[in-house]
Amino acid sequence: MNQEVAWALQGLILATGIYLVLRFLRTTRGGGVLRGLAVAVLLLVFGLWGLAKLLVLEELDHILQSVSGYLVVILAILFQPELRRGITQLGDHPLLGRLVPTKRSDPVAEVVQAVLSMASRQRGALIAFERELSLEAYMENAVRVDSEVGRLILESVFHPGSALHDGAVVLRNGRVAAATCLFPLTENIEIAKSTGTRHRAALGLTEETDAITVTVSEETGGISIACRGQMARDIPPQQFEERLRATLEDGQAHSETGAAEQRSFSLTNFLKELFTRDLLRKAGACALAGTMLYLSHQDISISRDFSLRVTASGPVPGGRSHLGELALLLPGDDYHLLSPADGAMFEISVTGTRAQLDDLGIGLGGRLSISRDLAQAGGELPIETVRWSTGDWSEGVGLRARWKSNPTPKLEVGRFGRRRLELTPAQVQLDRSQLNPRYEIDPAGPSFNPTSVDVVGPAHLIPLLGSPKLPFLLEPLALDPTDSTDRHERLGLARDLAAEGFSLADGETINVTLELIPAKVLVGELEQEIALVCLDASTRHTPSDWSISEPSRIARFRIWAQGLFPKAEPGSPAHVQRTSAIREFAREHLRVFVDLADLPRGAATTGGTVPVHLTFARDWRSSLDLPEVAVDTRADLHVELVSETSVLLMGREPGESGAAPASLYPITPPSREQQ
Ligand code: ATP
Ligand code: MG
Repeated sequence: MNQEVAWALQGLILATGIYLVLRFLRTTRGGGVLRGLAVAVLLLVFGLWGLAKLLVLEELDHILQSVSGYLVVILAILFQPELRRGITQLGDHPLLGRLVPTKRSDPVAEVVQAVLSMASRQRGALIAFERELSLEAYMENAVRVDSEVGRLILESVFHPGSALHDGAVVLRNGRVAAATCLFPLTENIEIAKSTGTRHRAALGLTEETDAITVTVSEETGGISIACRGQMARDIPPQQFEERLRATLEDGQAHSETGAAEQRSFSLTNFLKELFTRDLLRKAGACALAGTMLYLSHQDISISRDFSLRVTASGPVPGGRSHLGELALLLPGDDYHLLSPADGAMFEISVTGTRAQLDDLGIGLGGRLSISRDLAQAGGELPIETVRWSTGDWSEGVGLRARWKSNPTPKLEVGRFGRRRLELTPAQVQLDRSQLNPRYEIDPAGPSFNPTSVDVVGPAHLIPLLGSPKLPFLLEPLALDPTDSTDRHERLGLARDLAAEGFSLADGETINVTLELIPAKVLVGELEQEIALVCLDASTRHTPSDWSISEPSRIARFRIWAQGLFPKAEPGSPAHVQRTSAIREFAREHLRVFVDLADLPRGAATTGGTVPVHLTFARDWRSSLDLPEVAVDTRADLHVELVSETSVLLMGREPGESGAAPASLYPITPPSREQQ
């Protein structure tokens, strides 16, 4: 059901009930101390209850709740007669009477018997039957009786010696309500002349109200029935009961049709009555109903489920919560959360009053400041110490929350350590599979700026960082086909390390520079005879005294070029041309020799092993026609000896025949091109 409709319906039911109780209280023993007391006690209890709820005085609230049961019993005992009468009246209600036929004495029969008896003995009497309209006004100075209608009672009331015989008796709802009532006398002049006051009063009442009166004349013993300003006089005793019942029923019928007419006549009348009659009591009933509804609304406890995402942070003194978030505040910056994982989702069930949960609305945030003790102890995440709020950290008073997730989340907190680590090229995980093969990374490896870095991580792991067990690695760096110049990158820690809780300390960065250089290209292989020279004049060797063993006379070598090729594809005419130019240059200008000065001491005649030297007679930079690469200092022409790197020298007898002494080539001093 719609919430507003439910509220309205409950309010209407309560207000109607309270109004009926208030009206009932009005008709109880007139203005008695008892009624005042009852109202006062009720007001006091309700007032205190409201106060207890408002100021959250839980003990007082509890006491009042336990007392309220007794209060009802006490009130029921005090008002027992009223309640009994109320219940009897309920039984008399025509609707209920038809549903549950009750065996009761017949008041009309009693009246008939009493009247006939008094008539036969000429006792004066006046009896009025109250109908729709109240005769309360005529009973004000009368004697209240409230007894069952009985022949003897009526007769004794009208007994001339009785204290109650003067005036009239009023019957209300089948009971004797009052005696010695005074009715208004009729103004009807015709009747007035010939009739005494009793009969004029009997008629007068029926003119002003819908009551029916029965009169017994003291002078004649005649019986009269008056109804709606008409009086039937001297009714024969044998007809009296029939006439009386007929009049009562006729009046009933008349009054019922009258009521029906009134009802169909206008709804506005009804509404007018609703909003004009008895306003104070109705307003009171509405106010009381509203209060009761509000208080019980506060009191009903319900549950609602919420989803929360865990976030971890350092200690935050003030701050605002975020709805849907369970903020776990660690005791210090050197602490970190291991479990529950940052970002994990949890379901909780919150129990509170409907009002409290309505206050929460759709969102709930929680905050738990983890103390150092709790951080150390760990264990289950204690939900009862979480401060729940609706977004401004104000505490949700009295809310009870429990985990819905199974199993209960565990709290595990670790501490951070800090260490400075040197950066080395091996820490960079390079993926060069995509790199253009014409380029390569400078073999010296990546360079760092700065060359060391502060790393923060779990205290128990940080000493291991950098050991084979826990290598210190940086983020992988992939090279791509477009890379042809130096790469400058800012790298973080490897993903595995971050997952373990490692991070760079605040403000630390790792800047890496990768130098990309043109790749080495094999230009070709050449063979050349090894010359025999002596570059140190102080040794008294002459090349003619020595010879190189036959197998080593020829040196074989490879020519590598780096950065000496145009940007054109390998195999293109420009490439082929450049290759042959380099080969030609090498063939012409490469000098291969062994130096007699390298002979070990004491090998003056027996010989020994000496290294083979390589050098270009001319500088390749100036001799080769390389316009586009001449400026690149990283360009290189490089010769690699493939045959033996040293040869055996043997002394030769003077005049010994054999190969002609090797001619001396002009030799330039070893340069950077030399191996
Ligand atoms: P009866 O035929 O009995 O003599 P009556 O009509 O002649 O009656 P009175 O003789 O004046 O009238 O009767 C007086 C009695 O009527 C009083 O003793 C009193 O009990 C009753 N009486 C007089 N006035 C009223 C009144 N206003 N309301 C009710 N009863 C009244
Ligand atoms: Mg008289």
